[in-house]
Amino acid sequence: MDFRLGDKSDALRGDVREFLDGFMTPEREEALYRSGTSYDPEYTEAVVERGWLAAGWSEEEGGSGLSPLEMVTLHEELTRAEAPTYGPGVTMNIARVVARVGTPEQRADIVPKAMNGEIIMALGFTEPESGSDVAAARCRAVRDGEEWVISGQKMFTTNAHIADYVFLLTRTNTEVPKHKGLTVFLVPVKQAGVEIQAVYTLSGERTNIVFFNDVRVSDTARIGDVDKGWTVMTVALADEHSAAFGSRIGRMLDEAEAWARQPSPETGERPIDAPDVRTRLARCAAAVEISLLMQRRNASLLQHGETPDIEGPMTKLFSSEALVRHAEDVVELMGPDGLRSYLDPTAPGGGRVEHYLRFSPGTTTYAGTSEIQRTIIAQRGLGLPR
Ligand SMILES: Cc1cc2nc3c(=O)[nH]c(=O)nc-3n(C[C@H](O)[C@H](O)[C@H](O)COP(=O)(O)OP(=O)(O)OC[C@H]3O[C@@H](n4cnc5c(N)ncnc54)[C@H](O)[C@@H]3O)c2cc1C
Repeated sequence: MDFRLGDKSDALRGDVREFLDGFMTPEREEALYRSGTSYDPEYTEAVVERGWLAAGWSEEEGGSGLSPLEMVTLHEELTRAEAPTYGPGVTMNIARVVARVGTPEQRADIVPKAMNGEIIMALGFTEPESGSDVAAARCRAVRDGEEWVISGQKMFTTNAHIADYVFLLTRTNTEVPKHKGLTVFLVPVKQAGVEIQAVYTLSGERTNIVFFNDVRVSDTARIGDVDKGWTVMTVALADEHSAAFGSRIGRMLDEAEAWARQPSPETGERPIDAPDVRTRLARCAAAVEISLLMQRRNASLLQHGETPDIEGPMTKLFSSEALVRHAEDVVELMGPDGLRSYLDPTAPGGGRVEHYLRFSPGTTTYAGTSEIQRTIIAQRGLGLPR
């Protein structure tokens, strides 16, 4: 078994690092953090230019045709540098669904714009009363001639405030079991009746509550068949369950190690010379290795034409929980230095560890909570009863 990613991936890693070293300046990182939004038009333009936005799409589809192993390399580097990937990344995931199940007109309209970074799309699944049980959505869409009238509320619609469209899960039939009465629409955000309220999270990230007050959309905005939204959601959710956090744990470890190598101004002793410090760093290093190997195994399965149905949720579960565990451990290890605020120029590593402590809990919630990942693994992977 060969765990290397190959020469092409290694070369790509070098290119991506070189770009990010120049692009992700401390000023840009601070501006992004203060905005609370993982989106920067200059970044999107730069990655479009380099062929890294639609990187995994085939050349026939207009992408760069990178292999899954190259894609995992790209992902590792971009997330490690905290590049503003979320806005364009979610947009591309939605474009992928449109490309698979949209009409020829929708494909011709939406997909090229997404690939060129001209539009941003947000996911509108979660509601105040339904998150994990996403099929329990209540936001109503009622047909009126060639239009639909949408009324209801979505919760945690990240990027809605900068988006052109929300990929919206609605209820179109209340007379059938919940999975059978759903329809998906691509709703233009900038129109009367769409009201967006900011929600700020522990990590400093902005997400949103979105109200739809009798919003009218044409039937041409419907993605997939009426009442067949669950089929569309199956395609959309597959990407979500493959989120992974290995390189973020790696970056945190690097910051902790750099701190541990610095001699104390008072005693001249280096924390890393203490066995307990080394034990904790070694435990974190093992978590980095396991997370990255799990991510790479998923890529390897894809490379061989298989789908990581179980391995994806396992990776999301392990790497998000490891990030939480080790963020807490590293902060405990560094003591007051670990609690110095992110972006404080006098804090070790610019306070990045403190940010990971606040960023990590959300990772076990969005893109499917840990409990939901365990359920998928138990039912699909181990064949346990529902
Ligand atoms: C920062 C952030 C960004 C987000 N961005 C988006 C976005 O852009 N678009 C979007 O649509 N959503 C988004 N979400 C919402 C996210 O997908 C949901 O929060 C998540 O699916 C959980 O749903 P919920 O919050 O309703 O919690 P609930 O589903 O109510 O869960 C509450 C608790 O109960 C547990 N639980 C629920 N059901 C079960 C079960 N069957 N078995 C065992 N335990 C269970 C959960 O694991 C959790 O611990 C975002 C969330 C956050 C925090």
